[in-house]
Amino acid sequence: MAVPDSKAASIRAAAAMAPLGIVIQSASGERLFENEAAAALTAATADVAVVRLRLRNLITEAQQRNEPVERQIELHGPSPRTLAIQAMPLPAEDASIGTVAFIEDLTSASRVNSMRSDFIANASHELKTPLGAMRLLADALLATDRPDLSRDLVQKIQGEAERMTRLVDDLLDLALEEEAAPDSQPVDLCDVVGDAVAQLELLVETTGISVDLSCSSTRVAGNRRRLVTAVANLLENAIKYTATKGAADPEPVAVRSWREGKVAVIEVEDHGIGIPGHHQDRIFERFYRVDRGRNRASGGTGLGLSIARHVVENHHGKISVESVSGSGSTFRIELPALEE
Ligand code: ADP
Repeated sequence: MAVPDSKAASIRAAAAMAPLGIVIQSASGERLFENEAAAALTAATADVAVVRLRLRNLITEAQQRNEPVERQIELHGPSPRTLAIQAMPLPAEDASIGTVAFIEDLTSASRVNSMRSDFIANASHELKTPLGAMRLLADALLATDRPDLSRDLVQKIQGEAERMTRLVDDLLDLALEEEAAPDSQPVDLCDVVGDAVAQLELLVETTGISVDLSCSSTRVAGNRRRLVTAVANLLENAIKYTATKGAADPEPVAVRSWREGKVAVIEVEDHGIGIPGHHQDRIFERFYRVDRGRNRASGGTGLGLSIARHVVENHHGKISVESVSGSGSTFRIELPALEE
């Protein structure tokens, strides 16, 4: 049955606009139709010729086997892409009149999937380390009848339990930041930096590294508790990585906040061990540490900066670092300031 002209025209227009790539080939091998998405998907890859060849082969295969075939193509080029191609014969009364192929760009979906499985693998590994240690310590505790040793082992078990608690707390903070945008209230940055400093009193006491605070009242829209978490994470690092340097008379860490036109700025500056240049881009990634063994032993979860970055981005801001290895680091948060 012939399709009336207006109907054929509207089907053609709809296919042309479809976000999925569509290619139709006649039974004799003639290319009857290719929509814009198909052209764009193949042209956007560095390996246009490879994609076109694989597409043609798949169409031929579907036609010869007279059944749908599906293949995923991984392109490794400068920007890797994943395409899924499905080719299926177009059935008519007694024979196939040609083949249609659909091309879908799975690049972002497969990136999300691989990030998710990396994350689960990392989180499990991080949790397994203190769990394994607790198991060994508990075995040693069972095997000893020396009270002095027992006390020492119990304290170590407590330390490992604290580390697991910190990790789980950080994982929950991260999940919260990744899932929900913060509720928005006017927040004064003096309250944020003040709360963050108060949270770290104990660390200041135990390390002997003091914190200099200065702020001029500037308001942003956001969630005070989450902003405090971000600043406290930066401050904790600043103190920790100043202490790691082991200077006889360590310089204080500085936290300051002020307004620059429409931007509210918070800076956390230390004169600690600093971060080598080639690590600076990566430290905001989940579980990334400059010195894996040492930082894990010092009790870090490797999630602090990633949480801080999420909080800042959820507040429509940006976070950056300037650091010189051996001399110290300055972390800077910029947020949109509220009108005065
Ligand atoms: P961690 O819990 O290991 O501190 P973070 O996500 O907070 O994890 O930081 C990631 C890594 O960045 C740290 O392991 C450390 O190597 C480096 N880093 C962060 N802040 C500082 C700093 N102020 N000085 C030196 N190194 C830092």
